[in-house]
Amino acid sequence: MADFPCSLREFQAWFPNDAACARYLAANRWPDDFRCPHCGEAKCWQLPSRTVLTFLCAKCRKETSVTAGTIMHRSHLPLTVWFWAAYLMATHSNGMSALQLQNELDLGSYKTAWLLAMKLRRAMVAPGRSPLSGLVEVDETEIPFRTKDDPPAGGRGRSHDGKLLVAGAVEIKSGKKKKLTLGRVRLSVIADYRAGTLHAFMKAAIAPGSTASTDGFASYAGAPDANHDPHVIGPMAAHIVMPAIHRVFSNPKAWGLGVYHGLRRKYLQVYLDEFAFRFNRRKSRHAAFATLLRIATHSKPIPYKMLRVVG
Ligand SMILES: [Zn+2]
Repeated sequence: MADFPCSLREFQAWFPNDAACARYLAANRWPDDFRCPHCGEAKCWQLPSRTVLTFLCAKCRKETSVTAGTIMHRSHLPLTVWFWAAYLMATHSNGMSALQLQNELDLGSYKTAWLLAMKLRRAMVAPGRSPLSGLVEVDETEIPFRTKDDPPAGGRGRSHDGKLLVAGAVEIKSGKKKKLTLGRVRLSVIADYRAGTLHAFMKAAIAPGSTASTDGFASYAGAPDANHDPHVIGPMAAHIVMPAIHRVFSNPKAWGLGVYHGLRRKYLQVYLDEFAFRFNRRKSRHAAFATLLRIATHSKPIPYKMLRVVG
C-alpha cells in the first residue's frame, strides 16, 4: 500500500481530524520513533492537554510539538487545513491561487490564505534534488508580470529592459517534435543574458556529462561540465528547433495568466519553483502531496517579514 492517499476519498479516510494529521507528521519527522531535538533522548511522554501533539522529554524536560521547527510552527490554522491546502496545491493539475484556497477551505481572510499558500510554495524545492541529466534543452525567455508600476514585457531580441528574464532547462527522454517525451524541468529567474549568468544556471541545473542543446547564442559557448550541442538559428525558428523547452515555457506563461492573472515580479521564482514541482511530478500527483508535506515537515519556519508583502 502507498504511504499516501491516492484519491480524495482515501484522503478523507486518512485525515479525518487534526489528531490523524499530527500522527502522520510525527511519523514523517521521526520515522524511527521520537527523539528529543534538544538532547537526543528517546524516552518521552505525550502531553494530552496540548492542542497539537506534543512530547515532553524524559531527560531534559523540554516540550516539542509535532509542528515545532517546521513551516507549520505556531500556525493558528488547524492541521486539517494545512493538509487540505497541501493536497489541493499538489494534486490539482493547475495548482491553486490564494483566492481559490480561501474559497475552497472557507478561510477567514485572503491574507491567511495567501500566507498558507506561500509557505507551502516554499516547500516545493526538495533539498538536495538531483540535477537534470542526459539530453537537456536550454533556453531563455521573458515572462510578463502584473503591476501597474512595472512596464509590461515586450520588445524584441535579447534586450531586457523592464522584462522578467527566465532561464529554463528540460530533459528530453525520447521522440521528436509532437511526440516528444519530456523529463524534469528547472526554471530560474536571471538578471541578464550574459555568459556568466547562463553558465551559472547550467552549472546548477544540469549534471556534469549531460548534453546541453541550445540555440547557439554566444553566451552559452564554453558552459562548464556539459557537452554543448548548439543549434545556430534565427529567433523566429526557435520553437521549431527547440520544441521541448518552448513547450515548457508556454506553460507557466499561460498558467500565470490563467490562475494568477499574471505573476508578481517579487515572487516569480517562487511561482516558477511551484510550476517545476508540479511539472516534475505530473505523473505522480498523489505522491507529490506526500513529498510536499515531507519537505514542509523538514523545513525551517519562515519568518513573517520574509512573506509580509502580499502579492
Ligand atoms: Zn530532551
